[in-house]
Amino acid sequence: MEHLIEGYRRFRAQQWPDRSGTFERLAHVGQSPTTMVIACSDSRVDPTLIFSAEPGELFVLRNVANLVPPYAPDRAFHATSAALEFAVRVLEVSNLIVMGHAMCGGIGVLLRGAPPGAGDFLLPWMSIAEPAKRRVLAQPSADPQSQCEQESVRLSLENLRSFPWIAERASQGRLRLTGMIFDIRTGVLTLLQPDGRFAEVPG
Ligand SMILES: [Zn+2]
Repeated sequence: MEHLIEGYRRFRAQQWPDRSGTFERLAHVGQSPTTMVIACSDSRVDPTLIFSAEPGELFVLRNVANLVPPYAPDRAFHATSAALEFAVRVLEVSNLIVMGHAMCGGIGVLLRGAPPGAGDFLLPWMSIAEPAKRRVLAQPSADPQSQCEQESVRLSLENLRSFPWIAERASQGRLRLTGMIFDIRTGVLTLLQPDGRFAEVPG
């Protein structure tokens, strides 16, 4: 904990003097990010760092394995869907990004089961991605982990379109949905293409 407090002190001493104006403006006029990113909670995947983004630019939701559940307004505790509703219906973002990543522990749970003593919430949560797992395992694969990481991004994009206010905005061209994978081993970002493949962002 102490190293975090030390980090905060460095932020106050080195960052805040240059950034206080930005924060004051954001506090005064409110936030108006144009992009929401749904990324994994994994400590190695930080969208703000990857996109070199500034405070106020990205509305970020991070959960285990960057999953989007299907639309289900059933009054249960839907943290991901609540964040989506705020970003899309209140902030009116124009970009929705689902960012998967290599070596995802959540996808590992999907493929190999929960670690001992950790299935209360992980297993029901990861069951969202069961259709992706079924599609991948239906064909022989040399790397089911990577295939599942990719397929779960495709599935989350499908699930995004099950939200009527997302589908409506997407069909009207007011909202763009994008899938990505960040490879934590190489630092390379790949984008889901119209043909369904992931291709590296040109340097
Ligand atoms: Zn992950």
